[in-house]
Amino acid sequence: MELWYSEKHTDNVSFSLKIKEHLFSAQSDFQRVDVLATYEYGNLMTLDGLVMVTEKDEFIYHDMIVHPALAVNPNIKKVLVIGGGDGGTVRELMKYPAIEHVDMVEIDKMVVDVAKKFFPTISCELDNEKVSVLYEDGIKFVKDKENTYDLILIDSTDPIGPGEGLFTTDFYNDCFKALKEDGILINQNETPVYDKFFEVGISSYKKLKKMFPIVEIYQAHIPTYPGGYWLFNFASKKYNPVKDLKSKTWNSLNIDTKYYNTNLHKGAFAIPNYVKEKFNNG
Ligand code: SAM
Repeated sequence: MELWYSEKHTDNVSFSLKIKEHLFSAQSDFQRVDVLATYEYGNLMTLDGLVMVTEKDEFIYHDMIVHPALAVNPNIKKVLVIGGGDGGTVRELMKYPAIEHVDMVEIDKMVVDVAKKFFPTISCELDNEKVSVLYEDGIKFVKDKENTYDLILIDSTDPIGPGEGLFTTDFYNDCFKALKEDGILINQNETPVYDKFFEVGISSYKKLKKMFPIVEIYQAHIPTYPGGYWLFNFASKKYNPVKDLKSKTWNSLNIDTKYYNTNLHKGAFAIPNYVKEKFNNG
């Protein structure tokens, strides 16, 4: 008998992967955590039945949540990651010798434990001495921080369950305060392909625009996320993500990436007309 994992992206659209083996299932204090071995995408982690990470295409999301900000400000030293329990974001950050410290605030220890067991190539830098893994609610953690971080990466679930508060104006305000005067915030910003995701993306973009002088959308193609097409917000106190791109400096660092490069960087901020229109008029 064939086994298939199926995720309903909308009431009328499903995405399915053929399963080799069921590796893990448990309910944590926050969400249901499942790991499945798939034929095409390697191991897959889902939270509350939604794809978080697969071994085959995780490099796209993790390259794109990390490298654009570092190519705009290669002097980033102190980073806060909110969520990110699979470890992929931390793995990419650890490629920069200039980064002195990363606080990764993940609410759910089970996600980290599962990542260490079933996703060793993704979680491989979580024990790096430059990284503090803190099992706390990111919303509370950021509240009392001021002028502390060069970069905040919100590597969150969608706004359901524990991730809900990570899409609010209050939380973004706290992040703004926690950033230094040239700080950058990146958050994953959903897909424009389906309205229910797009509404979340528009709302997040508009909230950030109220406080950050610069907020630009950029894109990546991620096969296992809804629509296969994902957006990110680049919110910044000082740097323009395209005009201030330091291609020469970044290329001289010889960072090994599988998706990101500085030409792609420029293209990633060149978003299609239908997306631009949606963000301007949504
Ligand atoms: N790449 C994924 C995506 O876009 O679908 C998201 C990555 S997943 C590792 C997101 C993580 O955020 C989960 O491990 C979840 O436990 C964590 N998370 C959700 N709400 C949180 C909160 N309030 N504070 C800290 N971490 C949170």
